[in-house]
Amino acid sequence: MSTYDVAVIGSGPGGYVAAIRCAQLGMKTAIIEKYSTLGGTCLNVGCIPSKALLDSSHHYEHAVKHFEDHGIEVPGEVKVNLEKMIARKQAVVDQTTGGIDFLMKKNKIDVYEGVGSFKDATHILVEGKDKTEIEAKYTIIATGSKPSNLPFINLDKERIITSTEALELKEVPKHMIVIGGGVIGLELGQVYRRLGSEVTIVEYMDRLIPTMDAGLSKELTKVFKKAKFKVNTSHQVKSVEREGDEVVVKANNKKGEEVEFRGDYCLVSVGRRPYTDGLNAEAAGVKIDERGRVEVNDHLQTSVSNIYAIGDVVKGAMLAHKASEEGVLVAETIAGQKPHIDYNLIPGVVYTWPEVAAVGKTEEELKEAGVEYKSGQFPMRALGRSRASMDIDGFVKILADKNTDEILGVHMIGARAADMIAEAVVAMEYRASAEDIARMSHAHPTFTEAIKEAALAATDDIALHV
Ligand code: FAD
Ligand code: NAD
Repeated sequence: MSTYDVAVIGSGPGGYVAAIRCAQLGMKTAIIEKYSTLGGTCLNVGCIPSKALLDSSHHYEHAVKHFEDHGIEVPGEVKVNLEKMIARKQAVVDQTTGGIDFLMKKNKIDVYEGVGSFKDATHILVEGKDKTEIEAKYTIIATGSKPSNLPFINLDKERIITSTEALELKEVPKHMIVIGGGVIGLELGQVYRRLGSEVTIVEYMDRLIPTMDAGLSKELTKVFKKAKFKVNTSHQVKSVEREGDEVVVKANNKKGEEVEFRGDYCLVSVGRRPYTDGLNAEAAGVKIDERGRVEVNDHLQTSVSNIYAIGDVVKGAMLAHKASEEGVLVAETIAGQKPHIDYNLIPGVVYTWPEVAAVGKTEEELKEAGVEYKSGQFPMRALGRSRASMDIDGFVKILADKNTDEILGVHMIGARAADMIAEAVVAMEYRASAEDIARMSHAHPTFTEAIKEAALAATDDIALHV
């Protein structure tokens, strides 16, 4: 039987990063993955393929809608070749997952292909292409998540689909009904809207992206409505049925009246559930909480002291970079170090266009906590850079403590917000004040000037360009 210092179960951005850090710190490490490709949800059916399709569909939208404004004439009609678009996406995925194979070899990490299940707290059975038993002093559970469903929906994966199938469609839907106006619904909804589908969003809460700052929801909804998305908030879905090639969704609106939506595809994007099927956690004595998550303490240690858990399978935001930070934290903890994660400073991004990005507290959270704060906001349309690229939607909002000026939250929607949010993370990590950012030079012309201007507005209401 092979023995290891650390065995990692699951090879997503939590697991594979944990394995690399363990190996870097001198531990003999194995990783077990049930699928034939490494990289987990993120690389195979999540972050990477969805961004590949967002990029392709964005190019198409530009060609159809904006080339003319830029003085570019296309002889003939610009057409979508969905098969080719999906094939390019898959090539990006293959290249990226291949990169993880390389990293495993480079770091001398043994890779086992098969379902990993606990025999006891130090022994793991592997069942699949590889069939073996390994012994490990420490184990890191990184088994991730799967799409959630509503109890009355039969996901036939043909027309009533999850994000996984939406990344592989053979045709552009005529009318896609999206249940859930969260991150997946909006990102994949935008892909197909750009490609020509009618898209109807049905959301239970009273606004889209309901966990983000309400100002961001409002601006994004405005942009989506302008792009002719049908947005139905405060709608409780009651049933989803197939009628031949049609899908019929029935929901109750705010007034309690039944409304019906008919489309040819229905994307169910109502969240994801932690995944521990087949892990046999109980054989090791690892506790699962009432929401199906592996229970962990502040050090991500489970109820069994030599077993840790990270990423989507534990509490907290289901984000790739959160999973990776936790992977590093656990590897360093096992190595005897004292690492730390500030969960308040993990940024959240929605990769629609305009992009939406945020870090720290929302206005709603500050109000609820009774914190005295001030707010500075700057519209993207006031920037020269935005006018040059015709990306005028959105704003940057900085929330700072009313008394100390410390930045408490940064919320932005606009072109390249996903990249710009890094400045806010750095600032908050160093506990910067709004005035600190207001006094830093930002290159002109860039979108980041909106951050400086919002900081000026938060400092003394002295934004320069409004
Ligand atoms: P996962 O990536 O889910 O990996 C878990 C792995 O464990 C899987 O490969 C699984 O096969 C394997 N496994 C499970 N059980 C066993 C077992 N018993 N034995 C062996 N192997 C097992 N997040 C972002 O931060 N940015 C984004 O842009 C983004 N976009 C997304 C888009 C979509 C469409 C989806 C679905 C998700 C997206 N996410 C994004 C979320 C992100 O993918 C997850 O937060 C992230 O993958 C979690 O990483 P993880 O390592 O915890 O788990
Ligand atoms: P989500 O939690 O972002 O959104 C789900 C939405 O569905 C919510 O707005 C919720 O109110 C709504 N909903 C729930 N039940 C409903 C019902 N019965 N009827 C109508 N609406 C209902 O979840 P998601 O979009 O499925 O994404 C899953 C996870 O994947 C998220 O945790 C997210 O963090 C992660 N993800 C991240 C990114 C990114 O970082 N860009 C992209 C995709 C996915």
